[in-house]
Amino acid sequence: MSTSRRERTQDACPGVLRTHPAADGALARLRLPGGRLAPRTAGELAACARELGDGHLELTSRGNVQIRGLADGAAAALAGRARAVGLLPSDTHERIRNIVASPLSGRGPGGRDVRGLVAALDEGLRADPVLAALPGRVLFAVDDGSGDLEGIPADLALRAGPGGQTLVCVAGETLALRVPDMVAVPALLAAARAFVERVAAGGPAASAWRVAELPDGRDQLLAAAAGVAATAGALVADDRPITPGASTGRSKRPASPGARPGAHAQRDGRWALTALVPLGRLRADQLDLVAGIAERLEDASVGGDQGTAGDCALVVTPWRSVVLLDLTAAQLADVRTRLAAAGLVVEEDSGWLGVTSCAGRPGCARALADVRRDATRVALAAGSGARRPALPVHWSGCGRRCGQPSGAVAEVVAQPDGYHVRAVSLASSAPFVVTWAPDAPVPVGAAGDGDREPGVVDWSALVDAVTEARELHRRETG
Ligand code: SF4
Repeated sequence: MSTSRRERTQDACPGVLRTHPAADGALARLRLPGGRLAPRTAGELAACARELGDGHLELTSRGNVQIRGLADGAAAALAGRARAVGLLPSDTHERIRNIVASPLSGRGPGGRDVRGLVAALDEGLRADPVLAALPGRVLFAVDDGSGDLEGIPADLALRAGPGGQTLVCVAGETLALRVPDMVAVPALLAAARAFVERVAAGGPAASAWRVAELPDGRDQLLAAAAGVAATAGALVADDRPITPGASTGRSKRPASPGARPGAHAQRDGRWALTALVPLGRLRADQLDLVAGIAERLEDASVGGDQGTAGDCALVVTPWRSVVLLDLTAAQLADVRTRLAAAGLVVEEDSGWLGVTSCAGRPGCARALADVRRDATRVALAAGSGARRPALPVHWSGCGRRCGQPSGAVAEVVAQPDGYHVRAVSLASSAPFVVTWAPDAPVPVGAAGDGDREPGVVDWSALVDAVTEARELHRRETG
């Protein structure tokens, strides 16, 4: 297939078997479909990060994890250890298992239990040789019906609905099809195959890495899904374009529990606790801590009558947080205290809310600044108890802006003459269109500073500029 050559030569998404050569060593990414992480697996990941990498597990915006700083030969050792704990069930399909799911599925007060759909989708992806050619950038989402994945830029998605029906969504949900649950996964897989075939056919579509990048023919993906449903004799009740958010009839909803640090009530009377991981960098000792807590929670659930064997009490989310499930009210305060003491964010009004960054120095050779160090300093200056900023802030070590969220954002970009701080909107659909910047860039610490105090950074100017950019959005939008 023509996509094979294209995939081999151009798709740069890393995995475990094909790592990314970063300035601080090789970087390996491991997929966690649905974000569920068994305690034993989490413990092994912590050990791998400590023994093979730089001592951290990085959480990605697709709910996956990565280990960086791998020396020569360490990636092969990591692959072997990942395979032993079930994290590498397929060598050929490892980089396409990008599936995000509602973190409280089966527990949250709204929505349905979609854990079975996630497992079936992962299995179906791995079982189809054609889908090995999917670009590693394609993202699948499985929403439990609560709509909490709204804002996640999925290429192909399932959204559970009432009455045993599921919405099959294509291209950011601008096209959708309602089908019975039993054919939802086969229908979505058919749409994925149609995307592979569309790209392989060549022409302008050959350069598409995401479904939304197809110049035309996205409706063919939906038609492929409908064909599967029809062949199965399943009712296709709806086949029409929809607008984002229209599928649920709700345009504004609270952020997902996975995006909001703190406690969230489960429908069984117990609690979920979300801990934000600053800049998505989870230390090995922090991972050991949450894995140990999750293990005890799972043992207690199986020992009692509130859970089932194999139920994961630990979930990694695309909002760079971890969620512990099934806490009793008596356990909640103690666990919250222990996570906070370890440096994880469990306060709803933390200065870390909405703060993201690229790798920067020393991980990226292009970086002009140690953005993680500087973002940390500014976030700590904001402190807990600060008003929750309306606008996220993203720090980039150069003008490529890797990982910058779409939509309205305060961007802090290192340039040769200093940090350029602006409030911008990269998405035409966002209501916020004002661009703001301080009169002059804020100087960056000298190259090669590493973790030492740079001395030349005007920290108060940087804090002021970032605060102003984030607050501007609040004033502009009321
Ligand atoms: S934005 Fe620039 S410095 Fe940051 S990871 Fe991307 S290329 Fe590297």
